[in-house]
Amino acid sequence: MNLFPKTVEDRDCEVPQAVRDLVQQGAVFYVNSSAGKDSQAMLHFVLRHVPREQVVIIHAVLPEVEWDGVLEHLEATAMGLPILTCRSRRTLLQMIEQRGMFPSPSQRQCTSDLKRGPIERTIRQAGRKLIVNCMGMRAEESSSRAKLEAFKFNERNSKNGRQWYDWLPIHAWEVEEVFGLIKAVGQEPHWAYSKGMSRLSCCFCIMSSKADLTTAAKLNPVLYRRYVELERQTGQVMLMPSKKHGRLTLEQVTGVLAA
Ligand code: SF4
Repeated sequence: MNLFPKTVEDRDCEVPQAVRDLVQQGAVFYVNSSAGKDSQAMLHFVLRHVPREQVVIIHAVLPEVEWDGVLEHLEATAMGLPILTCRSRRTLLQMIEQRGMFPSPSQRQCTSDLKRGPIERTIRQAGRKLIVNCMGMRAEESSSRAKLEAFKFNERNSKNGRQWYDWLPIHAWEVEEVFGLIKAVGQEPHWAYSKGMSRLSCCFCIMSSKADLTTAAKLNPVLYRRYVELERQTGQVMLMPSKKHGRLTLEQVTGVLAA
């Protein structure tokens, strides 16, 4: 942890000049939101720098597997900003059933098929020519996220006269800053945090900690049972085997038996 935590004003000073220029040029800032804490804090930070007329919230719906109240939370905290929603053709559970296996943390096919793909397609279809796609990944979360560039030109999506930039506005932030900004603007994070979850998005994520999986299993027994059944059906386990514990089923990891 940083011994001298930064204030939001310190973070304001770190916003790249290129982002400030894009604001002046009238770019549309699409704020990707899972309704989790990072998305929520990111939206408020973006609004410190971008006029609200240039901000659109975009959310990839995860049918069956996301937390209760996600859309309601998104609407309650959007401050009247437009919200675009999108979804992939098949759900995560259908994907697991059809492939006979769970997505792996290294491939993360779930993220690309269920979130990134539908979100990027929806932004392209909106037809704007100058785009900043804002995502809430933070370096503190993992070594792979730490390696991400906080701001870059996205060549793949810059076609047919469209210029597309990717910006991670809170990439350098610590988790205390995230909760601090949500509190400072007078909002609350989604209710699942108050029950002990450290992350939101899918209730049962392939990268969740044991503590999060156990909490999620107790709070969502019906969905938990579905995942346990999928492990039995496919003969696979949801979590990657670890060097320390080897291959463990969800019930072994959480100690919670599927009802
Ligand atoms: S939250 Fe986890 S399981 Fe869900 S799409 Fe993202 S990486 Fe995959």
